[in-house]
Amino acid sequence: MARSGSGNLLDFILLALLLGGRAVGQNASWPLLKVGPECITAVYFFHEYSATVSYCGGYQMMEVEVKLRLPTSAAHERLCGILAAHHRRTHLQENLFFDSPEAKLASNLAALRLRFYDLDSRCILGLKSKPRIYAGISRIEEQEEPIDPAVGRQCAAEPWRLLEIESSDIIKRVKGEFGVDAEGLVCLGGFRNVRGVYEWNGLTLEIDETLFSFGTSYEIECESSEPDRAKKLLEELLTSHGIEFRYSEASKFAIFRTGKLPD
Ligand code: MN
Ligand code: MN
Ligand code: MN
Repeated sequence: MARSGSGNLLDFILLALLLGGRAVGQNASWPLLKVGPECITAVYFFHEYSATVSYCGGYQMMEVEVKLRLPTSAAHERLCGILAAHHRRTHLQENLFFDSPEAKLASNLAALRLRFYDLDSRCILGLKSKPRIYAGISRIEEQEEPIDPAVGRQCAAEPWRLLEIESSDIIKRVKGEFGVDAEGLVCLGGFRNVRGVYEWNGLTLEIDETLFSFGTSYEIECESSEPDRAKKLLEELLTSHGIEFRYSEASKFAIFRTGKLPD
């Protein structure tokens, strides 16, 4: 994973100065500076456009991954058989999603997730935002924090408890950047995922069997800093074994929200 633009406070100050200099250079106005309890936001006005830069603490990483959908359970079974010698481990993941009652996160293209691994042996709080998917390659801003699985379970049962995790940079952003506060959070539900992890050809492949309430879907994911190369290798593997696949056109969360499997 590569760090994206908005990393630490120093990056923010440098970017803010750079944009400020450009705005003044174009005879545009000085930025509008908003200093909130959680975030500092600067809005720059140029002639035809404006730019917003925020610093809310913590890091946002860019997750880049190849996502290929396997249309049938037979294709999934076949691929797992072919890669059997490369299998490293299998995780049972339980994913739960949260939003404010007015869907402030979803309306800003963000998703807040609690993921439990292998019953409750591990729990990760995650915030994903600004998803883009094109030709089987997904790019999304992702921030993750491990939390105590027992605390995670309490938050799943009573979602407002998430907002009380004061040490969490993710929760600071949920409040400061997305404006979720007094009205709290609700649990949107979620889905289980059986993820087989394979080390193949220098790539880490995640082969997912995702159990939605409305059906099961199958997908290969592969995080890579060279996604085009990884995609080519995977396409060659699948094609050479006659395994049918398609480019994924939506995230699992988006599929969950539509309530039906992709065609
Ligand atoms: Mn990730
Ligand atoms: Mn993924
Ligand atoms: Mn991933």
